[in-house]
Amino acid sequence: MFKAIGYAAQSATAPLAPMTFERRTPRADDVALEVLFCGVCHSDIHQARNEWGFASYPLMPGHEIVGKVTSVGADVSKYKVGDIVGVGCLVDSCRTCEACEANLEQYCLEGPTQTYASRDRVDGTLTMGGYSNAMVVSERFVVRIPEKLDLASAAPILCAGITTYSPLKHFGVKPGDKVGVLGMGGLGHMGIKFAKAMGAEVTLFTRSQAKAEEGRRQGADHVIVSTNENEMKDAAGRFDFLLDTIPVQHDLNPYLNTLRFDGVHILVGLIEPIDPPVHAFNLVAKRRVIAGSMIGGLAETQEVLDFCAEHDITCDIEMLDINNINEAFERVVKGDVKYRFVIDMKTLKA
Ligand code: ZN
Ligand code: ZN
Repeated sequence: MFKAIGYAAQSATAPLAPMTFERRTPRADDVALEVLFCGVCHSDIHQARNEWGFASYPLMPGHEIVGKVTSVGADVSKYKVGDIVGVGCLVDSCRTCEACEANLEQYCLEGPTQTYASRDRVDGTLTMGGYSNAMVVSERFVVRIPEKLDLASAAPILCAGITTYSPLKHFGVKPGDKVGVLGMGGLGHMGIKFAKAMGAEVTLFTRSQAKAEEGRRQGADHVIVSTNENEMKDAAGRFDFLLDTIPVQHDLNPYLNTLRFDGVHILVGLIEPIDPPVHAFNLVAKRRVIAGSMIGGLAETQEVLDFCAEHDITCDIEMLDINNINEAFERVVKGDVKYRFVIDMKTLKA
């Protein structure tokens, strides 16, 4: 074991505060890394405040981690000391079930081990995330950061990036497809970039006219203001895919109406009941599909990093001093960040 330091919440109502703790001595297949940058995901806030009801404390968030390898276990073959690597939302899974065999560790039938607030499969200790100076993770759950990428803005690709890339790939978005992106926060602005890079014609759906200009700057070909009924009606039957990044309950019916037959409405932001209810006719009459998708497996997480390097895609970020993490949480809740805070771990004093 070795001493580490990080920022953690001691309860659902406590702000994040510095905490010293112990990281395990690397096992044979483990990589130890010095954390350089860690993105701030909205999930970090939901979990720190136990808003999903399954948090465990102390809770040290952070699952958009970029770091430098400091040591490796005896059996590690993929990485060596000094390599720049990433860790996303998962640090382990059963590794043998149907989903794991298919490189879909995020859908592990036994439930994957999350990067934080989860139980380590070997020793039962609580996993602690990347708001810390060091991590120890099995090499199977570590990815390589391509040299071409800026390290700080690469961090959010490990959650916000893979979350939007994976469904676009899975459902086969191809050149010429008409893709609508709903919402333009951390996820939405990445979704626009990926759909464009895949050759799609991309439309941002946003509630506010004020975001229209910014949507185009991010690469959207068109913008539809969703609060404008006429614009929504004019869009009827036009889209092949909707990538829905809206994290709060909203009426899906007007959006479904914009899909052509066989169109797919993909939920990546919502993890609450759909309310108001979806009218079945909106699906039945056009063989439309509502789908959900959650992050991606390790192979695909490596793929999205390589895709970003190839297509010059990065996340728009605001650098954060970890001492201001609680203020940053408030700003994320208000949607007041373009588009992701990334903690510069040099600001964490041991
Ligand atoms: Zn996340
Ligand atoms: Zn599994």
